[in-house]
Amino acid sequence: MVLDGKAAIVTGASMGIGAAMAIDLAENGADVAINYRKHDAEAREIANKIEAAGRRCLVIKADVSSFTDAEKMVAEVREKFGRLDILVNNAGINWDGVIWKMTEEQWDTVLTINLKGYFNYARAVAGIFREQKSGKIVNITSINGLRGKFGQTNYSAAKAGIIGFTKALAKELGRSNVNVNAVAPGFILTPMYESVPEDVKQQAINEIALGRPGKPEEVAAVVTFLCSEKARHIHGEIIKVDGGQYI
Ligand code: NAP
Repeated sequence: MVLDGKAAIVTGASMGIGAAMAIDLAENGADVAINYRKHDAEAREIANKIEAAGRRCLVIKADVSSFTDAEKMVAEVREKFGRLDILVNNAGINWDGVIWKMTEEQWDTVLTINLKGYFNYARAVAGIFREQKSGKIVNITSINGLRGKFGQTNYSAAKAGIIGFTKALAKELGRSNVNVNAVAPGFILTPMYESVPEDVKQQAINEIALGRPGKPEEVAAVVTFLCSEKARHIHGEIIKVDGGQYI
């Protein structure tokens, strides 16, 4: 398998795209550590699926906003798995509102989880990956970081920030043989979208050239490829997985 013997961290993997990526990495040979903030039972269920695929799984309750939690998690994963090869930064939330109603808390919370959270984990693995002269980092952004979305200045800013962050990180880590890329999903059916009103969902579907929302597994397949040696000359890229929602 393409990831045999590798060890990965996927942030925010108790459900949705993170869960699908964690399972796909495991099904392709990697041991996987996941974190999450709230959903204990769901996280345990994902671990069961990873173990059913014959791989080891570590489940760590850690808020990605915490710099020290990130360092602790990375250290624990290295100690328990004996190595670390892959980081998938995925944990994210939305807390929408038009700018004239958005609170400071809404702005700060989304930026702290969705952008600083990515810094925290990349910072924690960078020294390890540089020293071992190998590693893969995939940052999950969004097409709304490329195009901006009404009602999502906070989310769009964080996701656009991830794109700049990915490109800068690719320049910093490339000479150490560490691949850094981002994946920008369009509308994917996950719990994040459960609370979105039906008419807004339909508007999103109307934008999609393929005429349907994506599935978490369809994002996961691309991420697994990027984490494999088959993708070793892809670097600093932002790859849309959106069914042609933003062409
Ligand atoms: P989701 O279904 O809401 O899942 C989000 C995951 O992140 C959950 O496992 C959640 O765990 C975890 N999480 C949230 N805040 C966290 C924190 N502070 N610390 C640790 N874990 C945290 O979301 P999703 O749709 O799968 O989205 C995953 C990523 O894809 C996000 O970065 C999102 O912006 C991006 N994305 C999604 C779509 C889409 O259409 N779904 C489109 C473009 C981009 P707990 O709830 O257990 O804490």
